[in-house]
Amino acid sequence: MKTDLLPTGSTIGILGGGQLGRMLSVAASRLGFKAHIFESGSNPPAADVAHALTTAPYDDHAALTAFAKSCDIVTFEFENIPTAALDVIEAHATIRPGREALRISQDRLTEKMFLQDLGLMVAPFADVPDAAAMDAALLSIGTPSILKTRRLGYDGKGQVRLRSTDDAAPALAQMNGAPAILEGFVDFTHEVSVIAARSSTGDVACFDPGENVHRDGILHSTTVPARLSAVQRTDAVLMAAKVLNALDYVGVLGVEIFVTRKELIVNEIAPRVHNSGHWTQNGCTVDQFEQHIRAITGWPLGDGTRFADVVMENLIGDDMDRVPALARESDTAVHLYGKSETKPGRKMGHVNRITR
Ligand code: ATP
Ligand code: MG
Repeated sequence: MKTDLLPTGSTIGILGGGQLGRMLSVAASRLGFKAHIFESGSNPPAADVAHALTTAPYDDHAALTAFAKSCDIVTFEFENIPTAALDVIEAHATIRPGREALRISQDRLTEKMFLQDLGLMVAPFADVPDAAAMDAALLSIGTPSILKTRRLGYDGKGQVRLRSTDDAAPALAQMNGAPAILEGFVDFTHEVSVIAARSSTGDVACFDPGENVHRDGILHSTTVPARLSAVQRTDAVLMAAKVLNALDYVGVLGVEIFVTRKELIVNEIAPRVHNSGHWTQNGCTVDQFEQHIRAITGWPLGDGTRFADVVMENLIGDDMDRVPALARESDTAVHLYGKSETKPGRKMGHVNRITR
């Protein structure tokens, strides 16, 4: 496949105006492109740094059509875009990465089956389409386990842990009737992720895997280098490449992996730039945001070689009070998202500390 470079001044549409859309917009503008944000909520952080903003719900087909017509290429910062909205956009503009990656990652069951079919290890899982299916799922998966909604989960939302079968009924109640999967609890030593990119000509490049620590279901920090042997590092990168090639993917994708004493188990994939890739902003010549823009505009992939050890720490909710002190730290880059309202659990920014 040969793709021509999108010319300077072209417009990149971005579905979603959060911090990921904001950092993608900055990367786009650095390469001479214009970003057009489509966002259903008010005051999207990305709008501050974008060329244009459309504020409309995802069922406003006229707004989607006008948006798509104004764009030379469309991408997204989150995976839960309604299928009907994608159909409307695709009638007028190419969406990258493609629909298949979205279809698979929108549903945890489809995602698990896709990964398993690729020969990758995943946690044991069982479909729980309704409450009646729970007994059979518990029989095959047992406890400890985690009940997760198939759709629309993020930052650990829509998940309930089961310590024993006694927890099954309250866990089911929390699903509110939504289809779910029961996942065996993985006894991992640590979590890592690979941020991988594939160009429009099929070249693949991966950033060095990062080690992730979650607190209360939300990513707290990413450290590079991750604790991985040379073999594990290669395996992790090959797993990501396998996913990219199977999806004929164009753009950046995050692969979350559990490291156990025996093996690497894929937790989930995210068809977009990823919070655990923010360290690349200060640890690589070309970061994940530029890499994504390069891929979707037909540019060659950039040099993502890691030149520093970095610890990325998310600033969540009241962590914003620490900004004056963080601003005085040496070897620390502060990245803020410009969100007007601080809320508990809300990602407000992050810092990248160069540790070596
Ligand atoms: P995010 O948006 O942060 O990626 P999410 O809502 O999509 O989160 P998951 O990635 O599935 O949810 O789970 C969040 C975290 O919960 C994982 O990173 C891991 O720490 C823990 N977790 C999830 N599934 C399992 C499992 N099967 N065994 C052990 N821990 C798990
Ligand atoms: Mg996750």
